[in-house]
Amino acid sequence: MSAATITLKPGKDQSLRRRHPWVFSGAIGRMEGEVTEGTPVTVRASNGEVLGVGHYAPGSIAVRLLDFGPDAQLPDAAFWENRLRNAYQLRQGLGLTGTGNTDVYRLTHAEGDGVPGLIIDVYGDTAVVQTHSAGMYQSRPLIAAALQAVIPGLRAIYDKSAETVPAKAAPGAQNGYLLGESSGQEHVVHENGHPFVVDWETGQKTGFFIDQRDNRSLLARYAPGRRVLNTFCYTGGFSTYALQAGAELVHSVDSSKRAIELTERNAALTGLAHKHEAFAEDVFSFMKQHRDEQYDLIVLDPPAFAKHLSARHNALMGYKRLNAAGISQIAPGGLLFTFSCSQVVSPELFEGAVLAAAIEAGRPARILHRLTQPADHPVSLFHPEGAYLKGLVLAVE
Ligand code: SAH
Repeated sequence: MSAATITLKPGKDQSLRRRHPWVFSGAIGRMEGEVTEGTPVTVRASNGEVLGVGHYAPGSIAVRLLDFGPDAQLPDAAFWENRLRNAYQLRQGLGLTGTGNTDVYRLTHAEGDGVPGLIIDVYGDTAVVQTHSAGMYQSRPLIAAALQAVIPGLRAIYDKSAETVPAKAAPGAQNGYLLGESSGQEHVVHENGHPFVVDWETGQKTGFFIDQRDNRSLLARYAPGRRVLNTFCYTGGFSTYALQAGAELVHSVDSSKRAIELTERNAALTGLAHKHEAFAEDVFSFMKQHRDEQYDLIVLDPPAFAKHLSARHNALMGYKRLNAAGISQIAPGGLLFTFSCSQVVSPELFEGAVLAAAIEAGRPARILHRLTQPADHPVSLFHPEGAYLKGLVLAVE
């Protein structure tokens, strides 16, 4: 238990007793001891009962709980090894570690793995750590030590927190290796046997969108013989699967030049680059320009249109506009794979936006699949906010 203590106002203990891991600032009655940004604090109910231990931050979410109950552990070396070992064993059970077929997976999905504010993605023998809170940022040495104890053959740990840790909590934070160093070579990982070049040092997020693994596999089932348009392609995950599954042609679009370079590199690794063309363009203008071109399968996987509740309405309008454009370009009998990774947009709201888009496009459509994030991005039942990715596969008439 930590000497720094936060005692809640009367009646504000219910959500913690249900193991929801956040304490909002309005629930705090008093603070004692040295409660500074990032320090582990003991959280007590108004009657003094210990509810758990978490990291403090001076914001609307004031504490993110790491452990619950009267025996809650302080986040020491043993705590970290235990949490990361649990996370690793789950992925082992999913067949994601050391099978040779797939060597890229998410090791910790923040609250979904009992470590709020911490994302760790594994690429072969390298782990990429992204911290989203001061508490996690300050824990990096313990996290790095635990990673080495838990993952056999780990060669490097890259810390990519500079863009994600609150700026005030870590002024001047720089990305860099906590273990090992840059190999200076291209890194190739495999997902379901598909090779991908991943650049975690300069790429978006931790370098690869691991959360689409299962949805890419599903797309492979539908891709043979089809003309495919993969929009917001990033490094061409869906494109590569489509090519290897036997698509007739694949067009990939992303506004980032660097992403398009990597997409072309990844397409080349399939040996089927002659069936592939990539465009470094804005998706909306690409679709406008190629309005008359039809595809048998279109993927729409935009970045989060709404990062906050206040942006939700505009986001829904954006999803409607994008999906209407997508549906209009689908050849009769074709398929739309459409996604939203905005956490504040529920599956129901997203489906409503896609329905409105189909009406606007004047095309009847049926839902074949409802998609979500894969099992290495687990959602704690007690923290439903951890669910963010949703998708639909539509058959368009
Ligand atoms: N489907 C991808 C992940 C998409 S991430 C995968 O499986 O890996 C979203 C991508 O959209 C990013 O690569 C970003 O560069 C791109 N992007 C964002 N806004 C865009 C726009 N207006 N037009 C084209 N690409 C855009």
